[in-house]
Amino acid sequence: MTIGGSCLCGRFAFEVEGPFSQMSHCHCTICRKAHGSGFATYVSAGSLRFTAGSGEQGSYPSSPGLSRAFCPSCGSKVPGPDASGGTFVAAGLLDGDPGVRPQAHIYAADRAPWEELSDGIAIFEGAPPGYPDPGLETPSRPEGAREGRIAGSCLCGDVAWEQQTAPEIMGHCHCSRCRKLRGAAYSTQLFVPHAEFDWIRGREQVVEYQLPGAAFFGNSFCERCAAPVPRDVPGAPMIMIPAGPLDDDPIGRPSAHIYVASKAPWYEIPDSLPRFDEMPPGEGDEP
Ligand SMILES: [Zn+2]
Ligand SMILES: [Zn+2]
Ligand SMILES: [Zn+2]
Repeated sequence: MTIGGSCLCGRFAFEVEGPFSQMSHCHCTICRKAHGSGFATYVSAGSLRFTAGSGEQGSYPSSPGLSRAFCPSCGSKVPGPDASGGTFVAAGLLDGDPGVRPQAHIYAADRAPWEELSDGIAIFEGAPPGYPDPGLETPSRPEGAREGRIAGSCLCGDVAWEQQTAPEIMGHCHCSRCRKLRGAAYSTQLFVPHAEFDWIRGREQVVEYQLPGAAFFGNSFCERCAAPVPRDVPGAPMIMIPAGPLDDDPIGRPSAHIYVASKAPWYEIPDSLPRFDEMPPGEGDEP
């Protein structure tokens, strides 16, 4: 079985072949910040071959011996240049169904406060059995964040921000754009009014990728580490903040799953939040 995959903008494209195995949801802080979602899902593929973009990846050394590769144009987390021959691939980038299903939650001790892990699959607080635990450090709140504010920061720490209060809206989006953008099962974001948001530092090194043809949809990410950061687009009614990189509990909780008709074939929604095939009625047509 051969499955195609690509980043959001299409600069990187690849084909993976089975056997596919070891699909797991990683809740570590590095994955949450790198992908911008509540967790990342990786699957082991038998082989991988780039059809576009090979060698053009950006990369950030996220922990000893491990770099995170990304598309410098759109920020999607693509396989690294040394991945040919088979490796772990962010499942959100895949266009088809690898057939395997998630077998475990790993690094659950770092999980986002809104993730309940109620799907009944194995939960490991740290590394899965048989893997060395790299001893990841949980980062603290970014320097300069004020008491009582809800702060977030990118993986390298160069970009940091804070919001004054709980979000007006928080939710999960399963559209194929969000899945490619985050390389995850779905994206989780919150929306706050411009007046309740402040950049702490690093605004000048935020790369803005605008998806052609979309009104506001795109990706805002740190130039150095490619972690998604708040999307502060002129004309947009609110600022969209990716939930994964938050350093504080957002206080609010997700209220719905949207674009469920496009969800990943390998992911089953375990919770009882309202689900909408596309946008909830009356909420416009983004993303
Ligand atoms: Zn791209
Ligand atoms: Zn991880
Ligand atoms: Zn960064």
